[in-house]
Amino acid sequence: MSKRDYYEVLGVQKSVTNDELKSAYRKLALKYHPDRNKSPDAEERFKEISEAYAVLSDQEKRKRYDTYGHVGSEEVFRGSEDNFAEIFKDMGFGNVGDIFEQIFGRMGGGRSGFSGDPFSFNSRSSNRMRRGRDLLYDVTMTLEEVVKGKKENVQIPTIENCSTCSGTGAAPGTSPKICPTCNGQGQTRRVYNQNQFSTFISLDTCNTCHGEGRILEKPCNVCHGNGKIRKSNDLKIDIPAGVEDGVTLRISGKGESVQGGVNGDLLVRIHVLPHQLFKVLEDGDLMYNYNISFIDLILGTETKVPTIDGTEKLKIPQCTQANAIFKLKGKGLPRYGKFGRGSQYVKVEVKLPDKINDKQKNLLKDLSKEFKNKWF
Ligand SMILES: [Zn+2]
Ligand SMILES: [Zn+2]
Repeated sequence: MSKRDYYEVLGVQKSVTNDELKSAYRKLALKYHPDRNKSPDAEERFKEISEAYAVLSDQEKRKRYDTYGHVGSEEVFRGSEDNFAEIFKDMGFGNVGDIFEQIFGRMGGGRSGFSGDPFSFNSRSSNRMRRGRDLLYDVTMTLEEVVKGKKENVQIPTIENCSTCSGTGAAPGTSPKICPTCNGQGQTRRVYNQNQFSTFISLDTCNTCHGEGRILEKPCNVCHGNGKIRKSNDLKIDIPAGVEDGVTLRISGKGESVQGGVNGDLLVRIHVLPHQLFKVLEDGDLMYNYNISFIDLILGTETKVPTIDGTEKLKIPQCTQANAIFKLKGKGLPRYGKFGRGSQYVKVEVKLPDKINDKQKNLLKDLSKEFKNKWF
């Protein structure tokens, strides 16, 4: 089967810019991603558009393609991981390793030019590789921490070969022995003669070695013969400023590691504590309710209100109505996934005195007369 032109595959002009290319690929990837599209040729199409994108999104490869046309495609994906990672992350598809393992790993090596190590994770064999589990980590943050971003130390559990016995499980100076019961097969065979013409064989897990095929005369006392030990690795993660409550960040490849396999992902779930003064609105905006006397509202005043970074001057003009809302631009939270910061809104709420004395009462009566009981 001859290959279609890469520009045609993505439905773009030869003069296509990188941004146009990205958006064309995004559209098609959303349409043909095998998780979303169950039609039988979706996977083939997804592979085709991914290959086209891998080439055209890379200046070098694109130039080579424009000059020479299709050449061997084993190099097609090399070095393009980042281009895909960015797009897949935007689309919420999880990490590149997952997707390509799913698509290309499943198809097996040796087909369609992907045998040449498209990504390192499935270069070893055509079988699906073992993958560590994704780990979920919960982080609680104050609103002040949201403003600045937060560094968090996470202990990632790993399972590693025991260094004392080099993973054999046998005490130093000794080595595992081949199980004498099963001769290292891990299974025992029992032969039953059903009658003179037929026999059947039952295969059972060896009781002596529990299927391992080898026995330890003297187990390693560090790993107790397991050959593996649990450890934890310190990982410093940077939580970006402006994250929203309930958001889960995916840090690919930082989850559980398995020897000889690919690491899982680390999922960091954000919890933002409620703040005493500020209510979080959308898009980095904050709301602050400001108590004020009706006299200040009538006469107008200059005051200071608290913000998430400190305080800010606020001018309240004469005859401001109760519940009026003022906007302090750029005094909100950093906007998550966008540029700049949101605003802080200040709502002025009238606070009336709990009680008044006679003098105040008379003054208010005079005031009332002055207004002729007509305030509005
Ligand atoms: Zn050991
Ligand atoms: Zn055995």
